[in-house]
Formats: sequence, C-alpha cells, structure tokens
Amino acid sequence: MALTADAFSSNVDWRKDARCRDTDPGLFFPIGTTGLAIEQIQNAKDVCEQCNAKAACLEFALSTNQDTGVWGGTSEEERRVIRRARRKQRATAQA
Ligand code: SF4
Repeated sequence: MALTADAFSSNVDWRKDARCRDTDPGLFFPIGTTGLAIEQIQNAKDVCEQCNAKAACLEFALSTNQDTGVWGGTSEEERRVIRRARRKQRATAQA
C-alpha cells in the first residue's frame, strides 16, 4: 500500500528525535557484514540504544522494506528475520 503525502510525513515525525541526526550517516550503512563491518554495526546499534525514536524507526524500516543499513537497532539480517516471523504470524492468523 502506497503512503499518501500526509501519511508519509506523519510517519516520519520520529526523525526529529533521531539520535543519529548528528552522527556520520556512513556509520549506519556499513559495507558488508563481516570484518570491520561487525564493529561498525555494533557501534551503530549502540547509538540506536540511546535513541527515543528506536521503535518508530524500526517500524518505518520494516514497513518500507529498508534492506540495507542499521535501523531501529537492527541489522539487515535481523530485520529479515522479523519480516519472516511476521509473515508467518499473518499466514497462521489467516489459516
Ligand atoms: S533508532 Fe538508530 S537509526 Fe533509527 S533514528 Fe534512532 S539512532 Fe537513527
């Protein structure tokens, strides 16, 4: 379902509370998932842990299929796991 302009703007109000606003955006988009990227992902997650917008950020990332980067304290793989679990829950609920 596409978001209307009003719905989209209200859905991103959480960004004003984003702890990462004053952080290097590159920290949240590491290259790869091994080596130095592991430390970078953890450093980004540490910022997320201090963020008042964490829950809203995660829901935004899930609802807009953000496949790359750290959002709401989760890595790309962690969001894939959440998406799979939610799909399974929906399928079970509809059965
Ligand atoms: S949860 Fe993390 S990525 Fe999301 S707004 Fe907060 S600091 Fe930024």
